[in-house]
Amino acid sequence: MIRTVIDIVLAALISVALTLAVVTWSKTSTLERQIAEVQRGVKENSKKIEEAAKEAKAAEEHGAPHGGGGGDAHAAQAAPHWGYEGAMNPAKWGDAFPVCGTGHSQSPVDIKGPFDKATQPIKVEYKSGPLKILNNGHTIQVMATPGSKMKVGADEYELLQFHFHRPSEELIEGKPSAMVVHFVHKSASGKLAVIGVLMNEGKENATLRLVFTNAPKQEGPETLVPAVEFNPGDLFPAKLNYYSYEGSLTTPPCTEGVTFFILKAAGSVAREQVESFPFKLNARPTQPLNGRKILSN
Ligand SMILES: [Zn+2]
Repeated sequence: MIRTVIDIVLAALISVALTLAVVTWSKTSTLERQIAEVQRGVKENSKKIEEAAKEAKAAEEHGAPHGGGGGDAHAAQAAPHWGYEGAMNPAKWGDAFPVCGTGHSQSPVDIKGPFDKATQPIKVEYKSGPLKILNNGHTIQVMATPGSKMKVGADEYELLQFHFHRPSEELIEGKPSAMVVHFVHKSASGKLAVIGVLMNEGKENATLRLVFTNAPKQEGPETLVPAVEFNPGDLFPAKLNYYSYEGSLTTPPCTEGVTFFILKAAGSVAREQVESFPFKLNARPTQPLNGRKILSN
């Protein structure tokens, strides 16, 4: 009898001990699982943080997208990043902006003869105003004073903005200039026309000094420099003879239907001025003519 009681007590004790052991083991294993899960979570999060940091860095390098040659500089804000070097260099623009890859009337081009005769002279009537300037991550851009006009024959365009490329995007018989200024105009019907003023390395350009000394080094919104009264026409040479052809925006989305007028007379820019420009390289390589005619006057 006593033995039976001892047996029962022993059995009970063993069962309690076993239960305790099982509970402890399962608790430990649950805890271990939970720790492993948290660790995995931390790892995934830090991966995500790393990726976000990488993306932020890429954004910083390439800058926010913009309409570039176009007037609608903010239309493409949500578009993918692009640049002149790195993963989204000009050869890759077509991956994200189809026209850049498939268009047959793309800009810039290498300008060389034979030329057709241009018959319409261009006339430029720009207005003076305070300097409104921004760094959009791809170039330095100056906003036009409203009422600044350009006329070609019966066509009238209004100047929207002008901006810079280093070196010039246009080649003249295979040769680039140190820089080019693109004056972007829009007609009442929405057609775009760009006048290109090439700048060869030489003596200092006093008008450019006004622009470059006020050019933001970092990407950011438009700033007004009220003390500086400025007329973009001062960047023009005396003679407005030109080469002309039908092309596109030279930046994504590379929209076609843009008429280019590249002035034959070039301005000058000092080497120090070129070097002070915040972008070392912001020129798209030349594109095939695909049978397009270049006019000359
Ligand atoms: Zn341009």
